[in-house]
Amino acid sequence: MHNPNRSRHEVVVVGARVAGSATAMLLARLGHDVAVVDQASFPSDTLSTHSIARSGVVQLRRWGLLDEVLDSGAPAIRQVTFNAGGASISRPIKEKAGVDLVVAPRRYVLDTILASAAGRAGADVRPGVTVTGVRQDGHGRVVGVYGHDRAGAPIELGARYVIGADGLRSRVAGSVGAAIDEVRLADGAAQYAYYTGIPWSGFEFFVAARSFAGVFPTHDGQACIWVCTPAADAKAVRRRTRSRVAAFDQLLERSAPPLAERLRHARRTSPVRGMLRQPNQLRQAFGPGWALVGDAGYHRDAVTAYGISDAFRDAELLAVALHQALRADAEETAALARYQQQRDQALREIFEITCRLAAYPPVPTFIDLQKQLGAAIDKEAMALTARPIPGECLLVTA
Ligand SMILES: Cc1cc2nc3c(=O)[nH]c(=O)nc-3n(C[C@H](O)[C@H](O)[C@H](O)COP(=O)(O)OP(=O)(O)OC[C@H]3O[C@@H](n4cnc5c(N)ncnc54)[C@H](O)[C@@H]3O)c2cc1C
Repeated sequence: MHNPNRSRHEVVVVGARVAGSATAMLLARLGHDVAVVDQASFPSDTLSTHSIARSGVVQLRRWGLLDEVLDSGAPAIRQVTFNAGGASISRPIKEKAGVDLVVAPRRYVLDTILASAAGRAGADVRPGVTVTGVRQDGHGRVVGVYGHDRAGAPIELGARYVIGADGLRSRVAGSVGAAIDEVRLADGAAQYAYYTGIPWSGFEFFVAARSFAGVFPTHDGQACIWVCTPAADAKAVRRRTRSRVAAFDQLLERSAPPLAERLRHARRTSPVRGMLRQPNQLRQAFGPGWALVGDAGYHRDAVTAYGISDAFRDAELLAVALHQALRADAEETAALARYQQQRDQALREIFEITCRLAAYPPVPTFIDLQKQLGAAIDKEAMALTARPIPGECLLVTA
């Protein structure tokens, strides 16, 4: 009899958010037997200001999920306003790579849409399952994972490949001893809260000395208001103030005075959340029987708001590599090495820009880097549209 707590699959994905569910969905669409587990249940939130860049929107469109995201009530953003040195410039989002909008869906909505899409494609989606370690055979090859469900019942899943899509503090990466291949300074902080009760006119950005703040409108008339600064500045302000909210208000006052003024007429609907000292690092992406995707393999400061788009791009690269290995179209090590090489090449330009932005150079340099970022995102969006869509024939006939 089938025992869901002891099953075997071609692929087991640990982590079912933007990286994990996207990988599982694409593999399932390519005809593979995939289980995707997460200690969380869905819908549930995670740390993120959740703006999706053009390249990420391109992925949602190519995978047939953009309409579902927009139908969820996440407003299509068609205008971006940059504020610096007292000047303000608003621009419409031009049509490029078949996309003329960006969007910032709450993660409890986006991640649920992706997990549901993975389930519809045939993946076995298992919320409430915590992985505590990986099983290895006598040659050190990963052959599965073990853990427990919410009730504490032991779970053992065998797999030809185990994918760590379990975020920055990846248990899979730790269990296999994945090396950190590159590490940069981790000196940036990002903090945010939600506000409602005043109108929003698109994405807004405020550049000032040692800070970058902004507005990402989201569901239900709310907006995510965020501020990125050096971690040292965030800590110094926090030491001088009585609460995290007061520190956030003070940082906003310093970074974006017109926004801080507008927010006096709005209502805050959430606590202030965020991360101090965000790592900028690349981990080894694969080994015998395992691979990493999303934040588990590559983490960068949120100043470029690019983690979701990175995860979507790399989920597809990994799904294609695993498909080739599983179908024996390519030798496993060659396929996975190509995944790592493609990932490392694809992320390079925006990683470098991110590290430079996270050092908060003088405002003119910061603005110039923002322009370089926009061009790099557009280039990546164009490159993604040129790729064949994994499992497209199944998607069209489904
Ligand atoms: C403050 C902040 C703001 C950000 N803003 C943006 C933004 O505006 N735009 C953007 O594109 N990116 C942003 N990012 C980055 C983005 O949120 C991440 O890059 C993205 O969430 C990574 O997705 P993931 O699927 O790799 O990992 P995660 O979202 O971290 O998901 C990992 C999942 O794995 C599960 N898991 C972990 N361990 C286990 C285990 N042992 N067993 C079972 N399940 C496990 C967790 O429950 C979780 O659901 C921001 C990040 C921060 C910190």
